[in-house]
Amino acid sequence: MKTDFKLLVNGKLIDGVSTFDVINPATEEAFAQCPRADEALLNQAVAAAKAAFPAWSALTADERGAYINRLADAIEARIDEFARLLTAEQGKPLDQATYEIGGSIYTLRAFAAMRLPDQTLRDENGNTVIEHRTPLGVCASITPWNFPVILLANKIGPCLIAGNTMVSKPAPTTPLTTLLLGEVAAGILPPGVFNVVCDQNELGPLITGHPDIAKVAFTGSTATGKKVMASAAEGIKRVTLELGGNDAAIVLDDVPAKIAAQKVYAGAMANAGQICVAIKRAYVPEAMYEEFCTEIAGLAETAVVDDGSKQGSTIGPIQNRMQYEKVRDLIEDAKTRGRVIAGGEMPDRKGYFIPPTVVADLDEDAPLVREEQFGPVLPVLKYADIDDVIARANDSPYGLGGTVWGMDQQRALDVARRIDAGTVWVNQHLAIDPNIPFRGSKQSGLGSEHGLAGLMEYTQAHVINAVPLAAEPA
Ligand code: NAD
Repeated sequence: MKTDFKLLVNGKLIDGVSTFDVINPATEEAFAQCPRADEALLNQAVAAAKAAFPAWSALTADERGAYINRLADAIEARIDEFARLLTAEQGKPLDQATYEIGGSIYTLRAFAAMRLPDQTLRDENGNTVIEHRTPLGVCASITPWNFPVILLANKIGPCLIAGNTMVSKPAPTTPLTTLLLGEVAAGILPPGVFNVVCDQNELGPLITGHPDIAKVAFTGSTATGKKVMASAAEGIKRVTLELGGNDAAIVLDDVPAKIAAQKVYAGAMANAGQICVAIKRAYVPEAMYEEFCTEIAGLAETAVVDDGSKQGSTIGPIQNRMQYEKVRDLIEDAKTRGRVIAGGEMPDRKGYFIPPTVVADLDEDAPLVREEQFGPVLPVLKYADIDDVIARANDSPYGLGGTVWGMDQQRALDVARRIDAGTVWVNQHLAIDPNIPFRGSKQSGLGSEHGLAGLMEYTQAHVINAVPLAAEPA
């Protein structure tokens, strides 16, 4: 596996000012060094992106789309290398890593094909009003560690097709796949159009406060999102914030317990629960509660918790020690308040492994119910009344996603409409599509990613309002 990584600044692959260890979370051992950028290197990257902007934005969208498609093709040609590296730095099983890279390629291609044509807002009595969209300039991408590649692709695609240039900064614990993407891009995109800098959590405020950065596209925790928004306020920078969630799954009383348990389990435990829209609380009708608990506990017991590079592993480690300790502490606290029906004990081995854990009989105010756990542990809660469960689902500062499960689809849709979240899925989960807008309500985010709405976030609306000039003085 590749161990020699470089930053990408102005089309050149360069060393940083120092390096830091990248840890494989399955072994807790450093397996590569990441080059670190300082403020001067960040400034060089921003200056390169600024210098590249006039020529890049002057290309047609079709020309820019062709570049993005070539980037997608080049990633596809190295998909196995990307996937293995993603498993090594992030921990997820290799098949899930391959799926993430495949989704990133698909996302880049979707944006390469997306266009924002001029809108004629009025054309009557000689008055023509047109709204067209212009790029913003240099945009920054700041990404977290749970899906380092696809969350970056979600930003590169709309940023570049709209005519902007980019400086991207990955999370310190998962920088390598972003650096590999930078290496691939270096051979394809004009110098400065896409730059990669890495840090150990120092560059964020310098990026969000940088006078030459027009927009910050941020995915990460709500706590950091608040800092990003406050810092961006100084320059009235555009921001999109894709933040944390505490998504509820509501199971309606017409669903067989076995089916409900399968769906909820899959939605809670994929990527070891480290998904912004993972099912983080399950609400189950009183009458089927015990049967549901038995079924979901059975599924948890069949999980293969192991190094993601080992064939057959279904749940890899938590990505980093800090998050591992947070999830472990939430489980320890939940043990004192509820009934652990699966998992709960940390294996005695190297690596940040947590077995899929399910906790029943918790009160609504238990930390595992109120907070975003971001790990493979699910509280299962009981309800008797549909209005009550909707109120409980909505009683959260978060509003990212949610799911409703019901055999009577219309009834499930009626419940879904009452959930205060950016996206509510009915009888499916994680149907995220680059052509469909994705956003959080309340403290789960601001602005949209994906779809035309997401593409517009990388543009300035520009209205031209014209009437003919009379040949004679009035
Ligand atoms: P985080 O907020 O700790 O870090 C995210 C990024 O912000 C990292 O690159 C980090 O280096 C950078 N950063 C740190 N301090 C900064 C500052 N002051 N200014 C600017 N940037 C700064 O998040 P995390 O722990 O890496 O990721 C997990 C969180 O991300 C969870 O809350 C999860 O729900 C959320 N998430 C949301 C979505 C979504 O689309 N809504 C998707 C994935 C993850």
